[in-house]
Amino acid sequence: MAATLTLAFFDSPVWNNLALILGQLLLVFIVFWMVFSILMAILIVISIHKKQMYFPRLLRPFFTIMEGTVKIVCLLLGVDGKELMEFLIRIDNEMNFSNFAKTPVEKRVIFFPQCLRSRDCPAHLTPDGLKCVSCGRCGLGRAIPALNAAGYKTFIIPGSTFIKRMVKKYQPKAMIGVGCMMEVKEGLQMGRKISMTTIGVMTKTDGCVETTMDYEELMEVASLGLAEQIVMEPDPRSGTR
Ligand code: SF4
Repeated sequence: MAATLTLAFFDSPVWNNLALILGQLLLVFIVFWMVFSILMAILIVISIHKKQMYFPRLLRPFFTIMEGTVKIVCLLLGVDGKELMEFLIRIDNEMNFSNFAKTPVEKRVIFFPQCLRSRDCPAHLTPDGLKCVSCGRCGLGRAIPALNAAGYKTFIIPGSTFIKRMVKKYQPKAMIGVGCMMEVKEGLQMGRKISMTTIGVMTKTDGCVETTMDYEELMEVASLGLAEQIVMEPDPRSGTR
């Protein structure tokens, strides 16, 4: 009896009309999704080529939702995954600059990856990460004192778990994370997750030892919202990273 009623329903004009409406809605949704993905991909490609952000606040949330399709269209338009990731990091940074600048420097922290150190680094591991003794073998020895003097808390961390621990311990309101592209991407994701204003600064080289970074870029970002630009001591040795 029940089976007969069910069959009768699926054979009824009501069901046929409902199925037609659902099918049309699905079609509209797919067309909208495809058109919007293509438009977003075009906007991303133009932004990358012109080195200028167009509608970053619109792009970022929609990219998160439509990531898979937009990535494929970008790839078809000649933008590879690395370029795209760099672009997204730039968008995230741009969107966070204003809040970062408003955060008092005492509430800001900077996390450095340990790979920036010299392979002969004499720093010891402490509960707050590796303690630089400014031995002069790498740029951190000049960057960290300048940043600390400006009011920052700085950490050289042996792994990302340290970030969570230090955030819990010191309760900062904003952070700068230095790292390779993947580390910066994950750091920005973590920042979003814990609602912390996060800026990512990418290292210039990848790898596990003696990587390099643009310290001038870091000083520029770290100086956002401060009365004075943070300046590192000049490098006494030529060729120091
Ligand atoms: S300057 Fe570089 S190598 Fe020297 S102690 Fe500091 S982090 Fe280590």
